[in-house]
Amino acid sequence: LVHTGPNPALSSVIRKKLMGFVGFSNLPNQVHRKSVRKGFQFTAMVVGESGLGKSTLINTLFNTTLYSPKEHIPPDAERSSTVAIESIGADIEENGVRLHLTVVDTPGFGDFVNNDESWKPIVENIESRFDSYLEQENRVNRAKVVDNRVHACLYFIQPTGHSLKQIDIEFMRRLHTKVNLIPIIAKSDTMTDEEIVEFKERILNDIAHHNIHIFQAPTYENEDEETIAEAAEIASKIPFAVVGSNQLVDTPDGRQVRGRAYPWGVVEVDNEDHCDFVKLRQMLVRTYMEELREYTNDVLYENWRTEKLISMGVAQDSSVFKEINPAARMQEERTLHEAKLAKMEAEMKMVFQQKVQEKEAKLKQSEEELYARHKEMKDALEKQRADLEAKKSRIEQGRPLTPEKASVRVLFR
Ligand code: GDP
Repeated sequence: LVHTGPNPALSSVIRKKLMGFVGFSNLPNQVHRKSVRKGFQFTAMVVGESGLGKSTLINTLFNTTLYSPKEHIPPDAERSSTVAIESIGADIEENGVRLHLTVVDTPGFGDFVNNDESWKPIVENIESRFDSYLEQENRVNRAKVVDNRVHACLYFIQPTGHSLKQIDIEFMRRLHTKVNLIPIIAKSDTMTDEEIVEFKERILNDIAHHNIHIFQAPTYENEDEETIAEAAEIASKIPFAVVGSNQLVDTPDGRQVRGRAYPWGVVEVDNEDHCDFVKLRQMLVRTYMEELREYTNDVLYENWRTEKLISMGVAQDSSVFKEINPAARMQEERTLHEAKLAKMEAEMKMVFQQKVQEKEAKLKQSEEELYARHKEMKDALEKQRADLEAKKSRIEQGRPLTPEKASVRVLFR
């Protein structure tokens, strides 16, 4: 930025050099210690037809048995006709950092003859979690706010190789403004590499066509190249083609790895050449868990909250409500009046500050101009004086005068 004004210091921050160690560079460590002490809360939701490997993948991601092997209900068995919402909580710890993990499962999704409204109980569940957070925020005592909001939703796409199904599109369309969507191609070991590439392309086209927003690793200004490259790498793998397994299997070259063994070879979960599990884990856990939490709070929840409060405001505006509740009407009028006053005050403050700044800038400018003029005159006088001194000494030494010098002499008399 180039400052063309008379005094750039007025509009920019002055950088000061410290003369010794002060200590605020330790702030990140203070935050670190505090958050380690408090622990973290994270809620992930898994959505997809049964048998797509949701429980297996969660176990694989957190390297624990959060889910024991399920008994799969045969398709012709009698079962409930609605999507259920089940959540499992677990406290896990790694290197002294505690994480309270909640996994929300949605058994039944996509498993019925008619799946038209499969998304509905899920949206309701996500919104009721927002509701509960809002209610806690509005309490007098907000010391212990429990964050049960869903921070990420892993959406499992069946590895068909065709394109997205109607149920997939409908679900993502209904949910993308309420939760961080992370699409996943389930059981990708059942497809060839070429099939996966084509399938991913078709999925991404569908997502773009329906203007669905999926969570992207964010990059910020001034970020280092390594971080930008990492985010780009992760982004290039979406939708993540994953393989889940917590079983250790032997590879032909004698290693023991988490994977799935087949007569033709071993598919390694943690091998980036075999599947995108590592990149998914980076997105969900290792690099962007905090971003997922932040985006949920700052954007998804905030938008939902604004909409909710506006819709409540509309209800209060209705004449029926006002008629039956004059106290509420007065309260509302008072709030509006206070808001108006506050706005006016803020505007006046702003105008005043602006005027002061302009005046200061002008004063500074004329001060600088005056100083410059003064200096110019002073320099000119100094020069004249020096010239005259020189001439005087020459005259005193009795040197003949040139006509120009003679006139100086005349001037002197
Ligand atoms: P859920 O109903 O979606 O929770 O599915 P499960 O995790 O219970 O898995 C269903 C079946 O699929 C189990 O027999 C798993 O062993 C198997 N499975 C899970 N993940 C994978 C995978 O990545 N590839 C393959 N081929 N099978 C898997």
